[in-house]
Amino acid sequence: GIRIGVLALQGAFIEHIHALNALRNTEDIRDVLEVRTKAELDQVDALIIPGGESTSMALIAERCGILEDLRAFVRTKPTWGTCAGLILLAKTAIHTKKGGQKLLDALPVTVSRNQFGRQVDSFTIRLSSPCLGKDAEPFNYVFIRAPAIVSIDDPEVEPLVQLPPGHGQTEASENGLLVAVKYRNLLGTSFHPELTSDNRWHKYFVHMALSA
Ligand code: GLN
Repeated sequence: GIRIGVLALQGAFIEHIHALNALRNTEDIRDVLEVRTKAELDQVDALIIPGGESTSMALIAERCGILEDLRAFVRTKPTWGTCAGLILLAKTAIHTKKGGQKLLDALPVTVSRNQFGRQVDSFTIRLSSPCLGKDAEPFNYVFIRAPAIVSIDDPEVEPLVQLPPGHGQTEASENGLLVAVKYRNLLGTSFHPELTSDNRWHKYFVHMALSA
């Protein structure tokens, strides 16, 4: 079985822990662990970086002395960044806070922070998602001050979920914004699957980690 960690410095980590624990009956998960230190990171085979606030999360990681260890981990180990976690995983982030933002510099995409506006502009949308299985039921996507992937900067990045045009876009465009991508060992999503009871995205990541 695999040991999955959830980075627990800040943000919505408890919800990910619950979603992973709910999968333990059916998936080959040995342990689900909160990760705050290098010693804890060394004990896990895969990691989820949760939503929260990316600038704070990076600052706390730096102060706790785990930022470089995280950088090394995400280069090779299965890692899923949701929302703020997606921003941290990216190689490039725009619309970050003044003074900039430390990144883990692993996922070759450009992420636009708060692309959909402010907290009050949070929204949910049901979309069919072929990556969750052929003929899969639509998934209810939750976006909370979410980032979007505004460019793919390496042809190896696989787009997984794209919004219909209009959401979060100021200019008319034929293509909607990308909100989920996969690249080698990395999964990046701008929504919060841990805030729904539908655990198909957690299952998707566990399978990705098990086959790594
Ligand atoms: N807007 C937040 C950030 O910049 C992310 C929001 C979230 O994770 N729900 O980090």
